[in-house]
Amino acid sequence: MPKIEVKNPIVDITGDEMANVVWEKIKNELILPFLDIKLVTFDLGIINRDLTSDKITYEAAEAINKYKTGVKCATITPDDKRVKEYKLKKKYPSPNGTIRNIINGTIFREPIILNNIPKFVNHWNEPVVIARHAFGDIYKSKEISVKKKGRLFLRFESFDKKQVIDEHIYDFPSSGVALSYFNIDQSIREFALSCFNFALNRKIPLYLSTKNTILQKYDEAFKKIFDELYEKKYKKIFKENNISYQHRLIDDMVACLMKWSGGFLWACKNYDGDVMSDLVAQGYGSLGLMTSVLLSPNGEILETEAAHGTVTSHYLQHKKGLDTSTNPIASIFAWSRGLLHRSNLDKNKSLKNFAQNLERVCIETIEGGHMTKDLALMVGPDQKWINTNQLFTIISKKLTKLKNT
Ligand code: NAP
Ligand code: MG
Repeated sequence: MPKIEVKNPIVDITGDEMANVVWEKIKNELILPFLDIKLVTFDLGIINRDLTSDKITYEAAEAINKYKTGVKCATITPDDKRVKEYKLKKKYPSPNGTIRNIINGTIFREPIILNNIPKFVNHWNEPVVIARHAFGDIYKSKEISVKKKGRLFLRFESFDKKQVIDEHIYDFPSSGVALSYFNIDQSIREFALSCFNFALNRKIPLYLSTKNTILQKYDEAFKKIFDELYEKKYKKIFKENNISYQHRLIDDMVACLMKWSGGFLWACKNYDGDVMSDLVAQGYGSLGLMTSVLLSPNGEILETEAAHGTVTSHYLQHKKGLDTSTNPIASIFAWSRGLLHRSNLDKNKSLKNFAQNLERVCIETIEGGHMTKDLALMVGPDQKWINTNQLFTIISKKLTKLKNT
């Protein structure tokens, strides 16, 4: 059987340590033998980022904007220890942050559900996808400590000096603390667009949570912008696809999260998303089964990756020539989801089939009892585990068999 032809390229971002070892195996054993595809590759490994003074990260992001699909391997975000370890010129920022700012998208985190892998929250049978608005709020706040009795104000002054708002906040009877934070309608609107497009794409209902009963201007702005977009642009098509959008109070939403069995997209404000994405990840059990997608507001540009890091502890073993049992599933799904996006943009049915088969084969392999150590430990003491190379051999054999039938 000939390889499946893919007309347009995808951007392939390579990374660091064990994640990168797995990444290369995915390309060589699960992608390139089956697809006639042009990969536009950027090496975002820490050594190359240092060599290029991080220019490579910007180039990679621009390329994703150009080709509209990117798949990314986990990369080291250097801390002081890494700066020493790699003798870096400086402590570069997280590549994910740089890329997100250029694509201006929203990050969606979605667990992969496997029947035989127990979850901490047993009845979450379908994914809870978390979207985090990544602008403003406490992350751009300014705080002060006050040491004396006194009066606190919040002041806005328009640049043309025509409008001044002076809000009296509080009279401090003694020492204390205060803070101020902000957001902008444009960023909230772009977040909402990404969320509506993601939900539509995946055909799952969307919920936005806020505390608009308390923050009647701030959180109400989120609700209002989502509501307006829904009414104007998405209500009809959501109905046609049998999905819905709803705003809920954050406290009501966390109760629903525990009660429901998953299968929805939860749009979270910045801090809520920070906290809830870790809570939900833990509820599903394994980092090796968590995927992450960055989607632009118009739904056209997509970058995918595994949510886990470079798995340093396994890399140390690998460098000693020892076999590791590193879970490649989330990284494989980064590829499958990227290819799926490419297939939708290009209307390439064979590619779509391949991407779906790749996911199905992974799920069947693990549900058939072949899995890495991290998952086996979750199943229980009797569950056998295999190493990464063995798992790849099984998956690639299954893919080859599918191709030839
Ligand atoms: P990590 O690489 O996710 O690993 C934490 C631990 O989780 C591992 O030691 C391993 O546990 C387990 N684990 C994670 N992924 C696994 C997989 N695929 N298969 C099996 N076990 C897995 O996080 P980290 O150690 O905090 O960070 C390491 C480096 O990754 C850092 O330099 C950080 O900057 C970077 N990082 C990058 C990204 C990204 O690019 N998106 C995200 C997070 C972190 P055991 O050792 O117990 O087996
Ligand atoms: Mg967090």
